[in-house]
Amino acid sequence: MLEKIDVHLTDHCNLNCKGCTHFSSIADEFFLDIDEFEKDMKRVSTLSNGEIKEIYLLGGEPLLHKDISEFFPIARNLFRNSKLIVITNGILLNDMSDNFWKSLRRSDVQVWVSAYNLNIDYKAFEKKAKDNGVFLGYTSRTTNDKNQKLWTKFKLDIEGKQYYLNSFGNCAIRNCVTLKHGKLYTCPTMAHIEHFNKQFNLNLEPKEWDYVDIYKVQSWNEVLAQLVKPVSFCRFCRPKDHETIFWGPTKKELSEWT
Ligand code: SF4
Ligand code: SF4
Repeated sequence: MLEKIDVHLTDHCNLNCKGCTHFSSIADEFFLDIDEFEKDMKRVSTLSNGEIKEIYLLGGEPLLHKDISEFFPIARNLFRNSKLIVITNGILLNDMSDNFWKSLRRSDVQVWVSAYNLNIDYKAFEKKAKDNGVFLGYTSRTTNDKNQKLWTKFKLDIEGKQYYLNSFGNCAIRNCVTLKHGKLYTCPTMAHIEHFNKQFNLNLEPKEWDYVDIYKVQSWNEVLAQLVKPVSFCRFCRPKDHETIFWGPTKKELSEWT
């Protein structure tokens, strides 16, 4: 059984953190088409027999998608037993409509807020969630004694000189399987690298054998076999050199990712 799948409802974000591992702080505006979502999710559901433990609807910032509520019943109908989770930075949560909260409740979708200690009313949306019977939790709240948010700086090797087996072995995000445009990737790095390439005029491309085309495979076992394997793209990653830094906004500089 696959533990989890990430799906970006948007690639861009309204917070724009430095060194974002999904490259959302340097991504062009992108809103996932609802028909494409339904088609790809249907194919994954058919292949997996609906057996995926958790499905994360995220970004970027998914609440920027004006049709976000329409994704919930589609995902729930196709994955009856999966935990469905929206990951948000919370900036827009207090502006969301009643329909959004009701739709979460109807489709049994949880909300997890990435806590950045921003100047927003966290209590207000905690109450809204409670009143609407929606589970709301927080992802990592790691801060130091001055309440500064700590952040892991992931590092890439733009020359691709790393030994891919070592990189894969040391990688903390190798199971963040990502569905994008009919393909399943082992990690968000490969799935969203296009934004990094465009921003810095580079060409770090996954090979055809680094990902799974969900319309070409015949069985779920084939998918699982591919997703547990090291991929040649791992030569661009330096997971052993990751550093703990303070979180902050991006300056869109290459050094934030290298
Ligand atoms: S809030 Fe999340 S998605 Fe947005 S830029 Fe920061 S790390 Fe990336
Ligand atoms: S390419 Fe490999 S090492 Fe890099 S993030 Fe993905 S799984 Fe990890």
